[in-house]
Amino acid sequence: MKTFVKLVLFASALAVPVRALCSSAWVARAFVGAQGYVQIDDGVYAARDLPLEERRRALTALRAARGRIAATFGMPVARPTTIIAADDREAARLGLVGNVPGTAFISPLRTEVVLNLAHFSIDVTAHELVHAEVAQRLGFWTRAVKLPVWFDEGVAVQLDRRDPYLIDCGAVGAQRIRDVRQLTTVRRFWHGDRGRIMRNYQAARCAAAEVLERHPPRTLYASLARLTHGEEFDAVFGPDPASPR
Ligand SMILES: [Zn+2]
Repeated sequence: MKTFVKLVLFASALAVPVRALCSSAWVARAFVGAQGYVQIDDGVYAARDLPLEERRRALTALRAARGRIAATFGMPVARPTTIIAADDREAARLGLVGNVPGTAFISPLRTEVVLNLAHFSIDVTAHELVHAEVAQRLGFWTRAVKLPVWFDEGVAVQLDRRDPYLIDCGAVGAQRIRDVRQLTTVRRFWHGDRGRIMRNYQAARCAAAEVLERHPPRTLYASLARLTHGEEFDAVFGPDPASPR
């Protein structure tokens, strides 16, 4: 049964990249260098006509975001292809939907981070780079099969200091923090209206913070390596303190 569940998870994880491979946004990102974009830093692309000032703004935030990751979890090693979009129109063409300020597109081939300068911040940049780092440490398939979405998001929002995420976990409540641990898949986590999804992020932040109290941030990379070496999530990051022993 366990194997069957894993096979289903594996197939659904595969369905995402296959769908993504067929989209025009995927093509726009994959061939970014051939579409009027130039490398403004190692692996970082921006439109050729993006003003110098804007390029500097993006590169400064990228450096600061990497610094934030290094200070919390340790030096990041992921070097995702990072594409800076100047505005909402360009961001939409690169696959950002509904005015989201940034997204990490993680596929078996590579990770692409798209950031929209119109809604740009170090918080967003750090958030997406944490996703890229976790994906780099785990590899695509281990991440898809073993990493619960609530934990991936919860860890990313540890470094995201935007207002809605800076919530007192006491106000979130133990039940909601317990419940969010059931949101292990993309489909479960991003279910419902915007308000509900935001509450999922807040609860995920608190749930991940609880895990990081027992497993300090500096040990995160070593713990992720244990997943790649065959251990299961609960064996590495558990037990859930609220569940009966
Ligand atoms: Zn995220």
